[in-house]
Amino acid sequence: MTETLSPASSIDVAATASEAYRAALAVIETVEPRIADATRAELADQRGSLKLIASENYASPAVLLTMGTWLSDKYAEGTVGHRFYAGCQNIDTVEALAAEHARELFGAEYAYAQPHSGIDANLVAFWSILAHRVESPELAELGAKNVNQLTEEQWETLRHKFGNQRALGMSLDAGGHLTHGFRPNISGKMFHQRSYGTDNKSQLLDYEQVRAAAHEFKPLILIAGYSAYPRRIDFAKMREIADEVGATLLVDMAHFAGLVAGKVFTGPEDPVPYAHVVTSTTHKSLRGPRGGLVLATQEYAPSVDRGCPLVLGGPLGHVMAAKAVAFAEARTPAFQTYAQAIADNAQTLAEGLKKRGATLVTGGTDNHLVLIDVSGFGLTGRQAESALLDSGIVTNRNSVPNDPNGAWYTSGIRVGTPALTSRGFGADEFDAVADLMIKVFKGTSPVTASTGKPGKAKYTVVDGLAESTKSAAAELLDANPLYPGLQL
Ligand code: PLP
Repeated sequence: MTETLSPASSIDVAATASEAYRAALAVIETVEPRIADATRAELADQRGSLKLIASENYASPAVLLTMGTWLSDKYAEGTVGHRFYAGCQNIDTVEALAAEHARELFGAEYAYAQPHSGIDANLVAFWSILAHRVESPELAELGAKNVNQLTEEQWETLRHKFGNQRALGMSLDAGGHLTHGFRPNISGKMFHQRSYGTDNKSQLLDYEQVRAAAHEFKPLILIAGYSAYPRRIDFAKMREIADEVGATLLVDMAHFAGLVAGKVFTGPEDPVPYAHVVTSTTHKSLRGPRGGLVLATQEYAPSVDRGCPLVLGGPLGHVMAAKAVAFAEARTPAFQTYAQAIADNAQTLAEGLKKRGATLVTGGTDNHLVLIDVSGFGLTGRQAESALLDSGIVTNRNSVPNDPNGAWYTSGIRVGTPALTSRGFGADEFDAVADLMIKVFKGTSPVTASTGKPGKAKYTVVDGLAESTKSAAAELLDANPLYPGLQL
């Protein structure tokens, strides 16, 4: 870690940020006061609710303030030092710093900070793997330097090859993400796709099932990573499987990047030494701005570097700057303490839920999230999500493996600890959160549908429960304020 990461400063950050935000909102108000109002209201909402959405967090004032600048106004298509526009020297500085911090933070050979989101990062990864594995060998065979030198016929043949590759990823209801080959997403349309699930009994990732699917299907890309799987993955094993079938291992660490950055996931649980390409979001457990990131080995770097014009246009200079600030924050010892607390708190939350009667997918957690099967309380995920929201607890419904209620109503509630850990919640607070959630589950009943069957959407909550839960939540929140000292 270099000494330049945390320049000593004597300013009162909360007071200075308060001044900055008050001034910014006053300026916005001169043009569209309703946007200023919505911005203030969002802060009040975030301060006043128990945010348990596993994919959300609270970025620091430094990260947030970095996004509100004129770095947004510059076009800089291309890469550092090779832009299609003049005058990009400051964006070059910003992007180079974001990439340098990302490489150092994750120990990666190469980092690409341009993707605007996690989906973009995965698109860049897919197409750069196709460029490296399909396009480059074809061009070499045809003796062409680039695709523009191909005849119409050669180009048609190559396009056909792009569209006929195979990808193997985790199924959606086992916890995978829609970009891992789900048909409604472009990943399911551009690849012949198969998915692997989890073991029916343990609900854990079954590496032998992955291996068997990989040997049978022979994918070009083996995708690992998840949105709703509450366990760590052995990436050394995934790489072994990828190597056995000649696949490129792509790990999407969008959810758990903060745990990798904070050195909670090390050895085979750290994807960076094992994957050819790693994608991420920067706004979940990593606590940065909303955005994407691609890491790669030197071998894949030249293809990833062509993210623009492959699938991206102009990079967001202000967001890349905020990524650099967030990565710098994540390189501090304080972030490692934070990341460990995320994992410890998830354990406490899981134990607290279990001891009060909840069924958890896989029986628990060893990452930042917990997936509760609420069918034991006679509820769908949709009913439980709504009842919790009425009580000031923000979560999201989620399928459980082989979910009988499908992806809309679901049988699960996914909760995560990154956001409340950022507020300073520890073991006592997370145990109290588990208690509140269980009270809501037990106090909620489905309303019978006109068919006579228990409805999947409507519910009733016993009198006074939502109010008492809200006030208990407010006590926890007031004791752990969001952005303490920040006053608008
Ligand atoms: N990959 C995974 C594993 C995710 O969980 C998500 C978002 O939830 C994404 C990719 C997409 O990220 P974004 O919403 O930034 O496009």
